[in-house]
Amino acid sequence: MINLSYGSAIEIGLVNATMDINPTTAYIMIGNGCNNKCAFCSQSIESTSRKDKLSRVLWPKYNKDDILASLLNYRRGNIKRICVQAMGTNEALEMSKEFIRYIKASLEFPISLSAKVETEEEMKNLFDIGVDNVGLAIDAANKELYEKIKGNNFDEKVQFIKKMGNRYKDKISTHIIIGLGENHEDIFDLYKELIDNNVTVSLFAFTPIKGTKLENKKQPRIQDYRKVQLMTYLIKCGYKKEDFEFVNRELKNIKNIKRKENYDIKRGIPFLISGCKDCNRPYYNERPGGTIYNYSRELTDDECLKAISELGMNIEVR
Ligand code: SF4
Repeated sequence: MINLSYGSAIEIGLVNATMDINPTTAYIMIGNGCNNKCAFCSQSIESTSRKDKLSRVLWPKYNKDDILASLLNYRRGNIKRICVQAMGTNEALEMSKEFIRYIKASLEFPISLSAKVETEEEMKNLFDIGVDNVGLAIDAANKELYEKIKGNNFDEKVQFIKKMGNRYKDKISTHIIIGLGENHEDIFDLYKELIDNNVTVSLFAFTPIKGTKLENKKQPRIQDYRKVQLMTYLIKCGYKKEDFEFVNRELKNIKNIKRKENYDIKRGIPFLISGCKDCNRPYYNERPGGTIYNYSRELTDDECLKAISELGMNIEVR
């Protein structure tokens, strides 16, 4: 059996319900729990959370034939990509590869796979079977946090991601979770290095999940999140360290924002979800009606003004 996100199941007609934001990617999760001990994660071997949840999302189980049949009959046109999240076990990776081969034989959608991949040979194998993008999660933005939360070697992980980024240009992605105890300059240093090595980066907001070690920890302040979103966006646009002013490793000011980026900020572009092409992950970190960290659709004029004011910085937006 394969887990499909509840929103994806509605979108492809396996659940009869309505949503206010349609997913543009079908999200699939494969594997029965994870062997890792990530303190924030519902799938961690140490969590007592419901295993049909990842972050805020519910993942009902379906037969692979039913998923394929629904995708073959799918006519609504919102979905343009399939994202497979393999849990951190060898068994989950093998099951994911088998599933990808199975749907690739009949479907044209590009497929992203997030998995624990640690060798060059395995990476090559994934691209050989037709995966379009491989996600290698870092989750924590500095060495100390990473090694405490994940228990693996941070430097080796970053080196591997960079090496793969240069080999498979713009086909390797990663993400960090904001709110685990990192600071803004940690994120700048890591993301600048990864972006310079052709790695696609995205951001999640820490979301407390019942049954995990961090179930009582708060979500990040919206001001921090907006600053990191804007900083990440500007790094992608080529801005350098000297364009940012950090005080005690916190971002205080951004200098020399140019006309083009000014225009994008005014339209809310830095606050949209980022990651693989056509991925919008509705309500992954957000409760309907609650704080919106990553916008899954274009911002309204009022939302643009709100997001800019949430930055709490005196940047000049013309
Ligand atoms: S590796 Fe991923 S799925 Fe496994 S426990 Fe950590 S965050 Fe959860």
